[in-house]
Amino acid sequence: MWVSALLSTSCRVQEVQNSAKKSQSILIIGAGLAGLVAAKALKKQGYEVRVIEARDRLGGRTWTSNYWADAPVDLGASWIHGVEGNLLTELAEEIDTPLVMTRYDNAIAYGQTGQPLTEAETETIQRLEQKFFEAIAVAQDADTDQSLQSLLEQAIDWEAQPLKTQQLIDFLANSMIEHEFAGSLSELSMHWFDDAGAYSGDDAIFVEGYQAIVNHLAQDIPIELNQIVATIDWATDSPKVSTTTQSFTADQVIITLPLGVLKSSQVQFIPALPAPKLQAIQALGMGVLNKCYLRFPNVFWPEQVDWIEQVATERGLWTEWVNLFPVTQSPILLGFNAATKGKEIETWTDEAIVDSAMKTLQRLFGKDIPPPIDYQITRWQADPFARGSYSFNAVGSTPAMRDRLAESLDNQLFFAGEATERNYFATAHGAYLSGLRVAQEIADIALAEKR
Ligand SMILES: Cc1cc2nc3c(=O)[nH]c(=O)nc-3n(C[C@H](O)[C@H](O)[C@H](O)COP(=O)(O)OP(=O)(O)OC[C@H]3O[C@@H](n4cnc5c(N)ncnc54)[C@H](O)[C@@H]3O)c2cc1C
Repeated sequence: MWVSALLSTSCRVQEVQNSAKKSQSILIIGAGLAGLVAAKALKKQGYEVRVIEARDRLGGRTWTSNYWADAPVDLGASWIHGVEGNLLTELAEEIDTPLVMTRYDNAIAYGQTGQPLTEAETETIQRLEQKFFEAIAVAQDADTDQSLQSLLEQAIDWEAQPLKTQQLIDFLANSMIEHEFAGSLSELSMHWFDDAGAYSGDDAIFVEGYQAIVNHLAQDIPIELNQIVATIDWATDSPKVSTTTQSFTADQVIITLPLGVLKSSQVQFIPALPAPKLQAIQALGMGVLNKCYLRFPNVFWPEQVDWIEQVATERGLWTEWVNLFPVTQSPILLGFNAATKGKEIETWTDEAIVDSAMKTLQRLFGKDIPPPIDYQITRWQADPFARGSYSFNAVGSTPAMRDRLAESLDNQLFFAGEATERNYFATAHGAYLSGLRVAQEIADIALAEKR
């Protein structure tokens, strides 16, 4: 449905081509996927576009590190989630950048003892999972919302469970929910946490990193880096955007600031944003997923599995790992931490993080495994131009709030970015779709004015 909607979208943008005032200037704040694709779509239709970006690099929350020259790794988004019908798959094919497929069921899971899960443990997890998801299905029909944590405590009678079972429940909740949605169970809305669309098919990793997509989108777009927006004045007909060093005016401004940045109030709107938008910014959640890449002299883990999971002895600590050997042909493991634990861990020193990761790996693979020869660690919560990894539906928010976040103001300010996508929030394809949507909105206005 989305693809056909977008195909008709691009036809309508084409229709606007001759009606777009040649001088119509669009300023785009943010050179992430949303901003770049909006710029590309509008430039193609004859608009005068300019992108301003706070960082000294492109891509925002897609960020390919070339620190290991022979093995680029993504510090932000890694995957195309669900390759079938996903516009990012089409784009990857168009630019001919290699992808490697990964599957969640190509996994090995270890128990508290560091041994692969026994059949009995696997059965217990499956039983708990079924119970939890049945309880969610029932509770989603109820009138009042609550956090997933409080539902879990009731459904599984948490307090009465022995420690070993509690650890299995934590494993389930952390690996299946907190890592995916980046919010903690106590923050996620039971009603709405999973109210999102998804593409079918496996997931794909970019061998050369998401930079392949970013560089393609950025081609021929005028972009100014190191422009940190401080105020957006939309009191007059031509909105004025001031950065810490310069001012820009344009007929229309597209804002792709991450939800975390909007929450922080570090960008001032004059006049202030209307109440429904402010309420949405406040109520929607901004979560954390952090990555720790460890590079070893040799592979000491099962070489062909995609995912390595472990029942942590401490909730949320290094529950999930990805084997990057099939992607990079180098002995690299990627460990994740999310939500509350992710936020806590990113305040540690690099040494403490690597040390903690190694303790987990030693429990799974033995004391004799070699130390890493190098590492790369992310801290998305502390990043002033992201303030978190991606948005989630928090208790107290509703999906309709994403529509409020996306609404344009006075045909002057337009809003895009993953958090504005009701169906595909928290994803790279959501950001991409939001950029196309906002470009279409601007084109539609030009068309309406011509009539
Ligand atoms: C660790 C991690 C893993 C992820 N994994 C996946 C994945 O595997 N698959 C997937 O589909 N999605 C994933 N995501 C989510 C995906 O990366 C994002 O949804 C998407 O990249 C967001 O794009 P955007 O354009 O909306 O925002 P951004 O990419 O954040 O772009 C906004 C831009 O605004 C800039 N900006 C901020 N403040 C200012 C300011 N004051 N002035 C000027 N510019 C400013 C930022 O620097 C940034 O470049 C992941 C995200 C993270 C962090």
